[in-house]
Amino acid sequence: MAKCVSWRYTPTPQHASHLPGECRECWEPCTEKVVKKRSRCAGCTKAIIACPDHRVRRALLSEENLDRETVEMLAQDQYPMIAVAAQQMLADRWGVQPHDPGSLPAPPGYEGIPFD
Ligand SMILES: [Zn+2]
Ligand SMILES: [Zn+2]
Repeated sequence: MAKCVSWRYTPTPQHASHLPGECRECWEPCTEKVVKKRSRCAGCTKAIIACPDHRVRRALLSEENLDRETVEMLAQDQYPMIAVAAQQMLADRWGVQPHDPGSLPAPPGYEGIPFD
C-alpha cells in the first residue's frame, strides 16, 4: 500500500499566505495510505482545493495525471485563471464542453467574478 506524499493543508487564519514546505503548522506532511498509483489522498486534494491561496490551487492544477473529479472542482474555482484552465483541461482530456450549462453547475450563491 502506497502512502500519500502530499502536504496536508490545515486552514489557519494567521497563516493565509504560507506555501507548502514553508511552514509546518498549516502544512503538515501527510502519511495516509492511498490506493492505486495516487501520490495524494483524497483528503489532501480536498484541503488543497479549499486553500485560500490561489498559488497553491494553481500548483495543483499544473500537476500531471489529475483525476477528472479534481479538475471538475477546480473548474469552479473563484479565481478565473484557474477555472478557465481547468475547463480547458476538461475539454481537452475528457471532451467536456466548457460552456455546456449542464456540465458545470455553479455552486449555490456563486455569482462569478468579472474578468476586468
Ligand atoms: Zn503557516
Ligand atoms: Zn494525504
